[in-house]
Amino acid sequence: MMGPSPEQLEIQQWAREFAKREIAPRALLLDKDPESPEREALLRAGAKAGVLGASLPEFLGGAGHDPLTGALVTEELAAECSGCAVLFGANMLGLLPVLLSGNLGAIERFVRPITQSWETDAPKLAALAATEPDAGSDFIQGHPRGRMRTRVEKKDGGYVINGRKVFISNGSLASLVTVFATHDPNAPIRESTSCFAVPAGTPGFSVGQVFDKMGQRAAPAVELVFDDVVVPDENRLGNEGGGFALNRLIMSVTRTPIAALSLGIARSAYEKALAYARGRVQGGGPIAGHQAVEIMLADMAIRVEAARGLVWRAASAIAAGKPSLELSSMAKTFASDSAVANSLDAIQILGGYGYMHEYGVEKLLRDAKLTQIYEGTNQINRFEIMEAIAATSA
Ligand SMILES: Cc1cc2nc3c(=O)[nH]c(=O)nc-3n(C[C@H](O)[C@H](O)[C@H](O)COP(=O)(O)OP(=O)(O)OC[C@H]3O[C@@H](n4cnc5c(N)ncnc54)[C@H](O)[C@@H]3O)c2cc1C
Repeated sequence: MMGPSPEQLEIQQWAREFAKREIAPRALLLDKDPESPEREALLRAGAKAGVLGASLPEFLGGAGHDPLTGALVTEELAAECSGCAVLFGANMLGLLPVLLSGNLGAIERFVRPITQSWETDAPKLAALAATEPDAGSDFIQGHPRGRMRTRVEKKDGGYVINGRKVFISNGSLASLVTVFATHDPNAPIRESTSCFAVPAGTPGFSVGQVFDKMGQRAAPAVELVFDDVVVPDENRLGNEGGGFALNRLIMSVTRTPIAALSLGIARSAYEKALAYARGRVQGGGPIAGHQAVEIMLADMAIRVEAARGLVWRAASAIAAGKPSLELSSMAKTFASDSAVANSLDAIQILGGYGYMHEYGVEKLLRDAKLTQIYEGTNQINRFEIMEAIAATSA
């Protein structure tokens, strides 16, 4: 595996400066008040700077960053606020079903209007809706007895969608939702689902509950309701019945940015703890000199470096055209577990101050916890790692 080139490091530096200028001053505010107009201001700044479309190809109006550069950028955004990184990143998740469907007509119709809006003062976003009240891990795993209830029925010239999705990142802000639905709730998920593009404003489509999240609060997570939503045939993304396979492919790509985001949290916790420990004097000297604290700091540094190695390997595999669900999942589980462990250690090293909101490390823990849950819980990621290992070593 090669490390980043000088050009990639330059883009990382640009992302760091953007994050310090635009994200850092808004991070605690958006944590407290996610609906603040500052969220729109941040989105506008990110859209104009090219952060929003960092990984989209240039011919579609994106910045065209390769996967490793994308990971470096995501790490920097998340080091200042991972909720803000999701505000930008969930858009790419929403667009991926369109891009990976390989349908050029769909790409023009659904992706182009979004990227064109980034030049304006009203940047548009996409969101991806897979999770349902009764189908979380079961959809991700394609469990044989798992039942999706969001149903799609064929109608002349189109499809009718009925059902409910939950926890959809940026669902309330999106102008386009890519939604997974089943043709037969009693059939196995792996064979019975398809993915559809649903523009916001389509009759019958609405935003339901806005969830009150523990962390990563800058990005809303909402319920989406589909009540006799009719879309034309050309809104189907990929083959009929190919929805599960499409989602697997998406996750073999998107778990790597989530790993990079987790790395950003782990690094931020380590850097905040180190800086504090060097300045805080107790027991006759800086606490960084006390062995008990040194050991914690060393473990934090190890986690950051090991997570970075996995993120870079997973990103390099995607760049080489060989996205690996196994490697992406390894990076995601290790980096997210590291984010939680480092945030906990950072609170411990800051002592009573670490427990207080204004020091920003208790936020890191609340933010980090989510990285062990979304994109498949870490338990499900581990099953998938073992599935892949079993498939290649049998
Ligand atoms: C803030 C937030 C944002 C999200 N954003 C999106 C989004 O944009 N789009 C989207 O589609 N989804 C999104 N999700 C959904 C996320 O991917 C799911 O929450 C996740 O996959 C887990 O599903 P679940 O919540 O239904 O938990 P469940 O599947 O009910 O799991 C509950 C527990 O049981 C365990 N478990 C489940 N099945 C098994 C099994 N077979 N064996 C052993 N243990 C098992 C899990 O590991 C977990 O510990 C988001 C979730 C959150 C919280």
